[in-house]
Amino acid sequence: MKIIMSIEEMQNSANRLRAAGKKIGFVPTMGFLHQGHLSLLEEAKTRSDIVVMSIYVNPTQFAPNEDFEAYPRDTERDCKLASQHGCDIVFIPESDQIYPEPYLTYVEVEKMTRILCGASRPAHFRGVTTIVAKLFNIVKPQLAVFGQKDYQQALVIQQMTRDLNFDVEIVIAPIVRESDGLAMSSRNSYLSPDERQQALVLNRSLLMAKQEILSGERDAESLKRKIRANIRQKPAAEIDYVEIVDARNLDPVKDIQHNVLIALAAKFGKTRLIDNIIVDVEKLI
Ligand code: AMP
Repeated sequence: MKIIMSIEEMQNSANRLRAAGKKIGFVPTMGFLHQGHLSLLEEAKTRSDIVVMSIYVNPTQFAPNEDFEAYPRDTERDCKLASQHGCDIVFIPESDQIYPEPYLTYVEVEKMTRILCGASRPAHFRGVTTIVAKLFNIVKPQLAVFGQKDYQQALVIQQMTRDLNFDVEIVIAPIVRESDGLAMSSRNSYLSPDERQQALVLNRSLLMAKQEILSGERDAESLKRKIRANIRQKPAAEIDYVEIVDARNLDPVKDIQHNVLIALAAKFGKTRLIDNIIVDVEKLI
């Protein structure tokens, strides 16, 4: 496995690979890898010849009060894990190369970035789309894999890819969970044992909601109330949002009829966690 730190070298490698007829699959990450990230590498491997993973904690997607400085980092361990899971190139750029002074250009997807996570993190998706657009121009992939864990992010990137005519196929891979159901996240390392235990309520509430739909619940407001009440039973939980939207475009849903995304975010202590489930009503019936 090759480690590349310079943008120019990454672009030259991508050009050489493409000229040799290789299909490049790309997995962007912020590092501190867990099984969720590794599953994306494996998914990329089945669909491409060369898998490139980037590790970059992108400052423009963090608000000043968020955890950019504290975000966990362990590049050496990440490289070892990546090489064991089918990664061919790890790209680890430096911030002064990615955002050289003066840096003046950003990519912004409208509407769908203002809801869910975008409501409480207003500049977040602008940072995400900007870095992903830049990485697409550096890594030159034909395919990129994103996790359903960040479903809104994956849809926003699909939208950007369509709107800006990036010639990249966007693949969304399933959420990987711990054996007790907690969605894997680099941020889980912030949780105290007690907070981690209480955080299990997120996945359990989503499974309860799916069960409610299976039992005939079709009123989104009523279901959201049940989910909130369930989460509030845990004293450490502070709900950011619980929403039920159309899984295709994140439009609001009143009657649960087709393919819906139930998405939520909550803080446990200082740690903000997100989770979601897609329920295809037609497949349940
Ligand atoms: P991050 O390093 O948190 O920016 O995540 C990098 C990629 O890994 C994103 O596409 C995430 O959606 C994906 N990812 C993070 N956690 C999981 C998980 N538990 N299961 C599947 N994909 C994940």
